[in-house]
Amino acid sequence: MFSGKTEELIRRMKRARFARQRVEIFQPAMDTRYSREEVVSHNESALQSTAVTTSSEILLLATESDVIGIDEGQFFDPDLTQVVEQLARSGKRVIVAGLDQDFKGKPFGPMPDLLAVAEYVTKLHAICLVCGAPANHSQRLAGGEERVLLGAVEAYEPRCRECFKPDAT
Ligand code: ZN
Repeated sequence: MFSGKTEELIRRMKRARFARQRVEIFQPAMDTRYSREEVVSHNESALQSTAVTTSSEILLLATESDVIGIDEGQFFDPDLTQVVEQLARSGKRVIVAGLDQDFKGKPFGPMPDLLAVAEYVTKLHAICLVCGAPANHSQRLAGGEERVLLGAVEAYEPRCRECFKPDAT
């Protein structure tokens, strides 16, 4: 969650819009960790981001879009993969950003299935806060066994494989 994946999603969506394609971003309604408005609208060319409760809502809402961005893909229901495939088959370009692993280092939500069916995969890395190496794990610093600690971005930090301790909390 510190690797800049939302920024990369927005960058790609803006490029598509420069190419005069109709773009729209969707995010799960549960994601309350920070103000999405701020992220997507720090200049006048703000991108619209729509919160949805289920992945199937995207099918209904995205009919006018050429390029569909989905943020925080790991928080969506398992149907997201099927939804994305249906959109892609209808000629739309779909870009999903999300965490591939949860705080235990396990595949997160629909992300492993999406990784399997995607034409292109880009893995972004944060920097390990312990040793400075590229980090691909989220170390939870507080909290219990629940998979998602909402509203608690400070409860995680990026760690490399070596410094990642999944059973530390
Ligand atoms: Zn490290």
